[in-house]
Amino acid sequence: MSKKNTFSPPQLSAEELSKALYEVTQKLEQSNRLLQETQQQKDLLFANISHDLRSPVTAIRTSIEYLLSLENITREELTASLELMQRRSIYLEHLINDVFLLSSISANTKKLHMETIPISFLLEEFFFTVSEDTRFEQRNLYLEVPEDFDCFVSIDTKMFWRVLDNLFTNALKYSNENASITLGAIKENSRVHIFVTDTGIGMEEKHLQKIFDTSYMIEDARTPSSSTGTGLGLAIVKATMESFHGNVWCESQVNKGSTFHITLPLVSPPHGYRQA
Ligand code: ADP
Repeated sequence: MSKKNTFSPPQLSAEELSKALYEVTQKLEQSNRLLQETQQQKDLLFANISHDLRSPVTAIRTSIEYLLSLENITREELTASLELMQRRSIYLEHLINDVFLLSSISANTKKLHMETIPISFLLEEFFFTVSEDTRFEQRNLYLEVPEDFDCFVSIDTKMFWRVLDNLFTNALKYSNENASITLGAIKENSRVHIFVTDTGIGMEEKHLQKIFDTSYMIEDARTPSSSTGTGLGLAIVKATMESFHGNVWCESQVNKGSTFHITLPLVSPPHGYRQA
C-alpha cells in the first residue's frame, strides 16, 4: 500500500511572514556586505602586491641592462651588481612565499595539521630555540609561564611556531641593543592568553589596527635597511590565529615598547592523558 505524502507547509500570518522575510533580507544583506569586504581586501592585496613586485623587478632589470651596456667590467662592479640582484631576488622570494601562504590561509585551502597539545611545552621549546639563536644575543629574553601551566590547545604546531617566530623577529627588528623581550602566558577562563612584550621603539596608537592589514608598513625609516620584511607578516599572524579560532591584537607606546597579545580557546586533554 503506498503512503500518501501528507506534508503541508506551516500556515503563517501576514505579520509572521513579513518578519521572516525581513530576517532573510537582513541575512542576505549581511552576506553581501561580507562578500564586498572580501572582494575589496583582495583588490587591495592585489594592488599592494603589484606595487611591491614592481620595484625589485625593476632593480634587477636595471642591473642587468647596466651590466650588458659595459664593454669592460671590473670584478668589484660585477660583484656589486650581482649582490644587488641577489638581495632583490631574496626579497621577491619572501614576498611570493608570503602571498601564497596568506591567500591559502584566507581561502581555507591551506592544509592544517591540527593537534591537541599542552601549550607550555611548545612555548618552552620555542623560548629555548630562540635563546640559542645568535640573532637574539644582544637582547634580554624572559619566559613568564607559570609552573603547573596545564593548558591544552588545538593548533597546527608548525604554523603556530611561525606566529611566535614572526612576533619575536619583529620584537628584535624594532628594538635596540639590550632591550628586553618577554614571552608569557596566563590562563583566562576558557582561553589561554599568550603575550610577546618588547621594550623597543613602539608605535603610535593610529597604526595599531592597520598593522594587521596586508602590506601595511609604518614609514620605511623605522625598518632596518637589511630587513627583507614584506609587510605581510602580521596579516599572516592574524589569518593563522583566526584559523585556530584565536585572536591577536597589539598595545604599544612610542619609545616604551609593544605587546602583542594572542588568545586561543582551551580544549580538553587528549583521551588517556595523565599529568606527570
Ligand atoms: P614587516 O614584515 O614589514 O615587519 P609586519 O606585518 O610584520 O611587516 O609588521 C607591520 C608593521 O608593524 C612593521 O612595518 C612595523 O612598522 C610595525 N611593527 C610590527 N611589530 C612591531 C614591534 N614589535 N614594534 C614596533 N613596530 C612593530
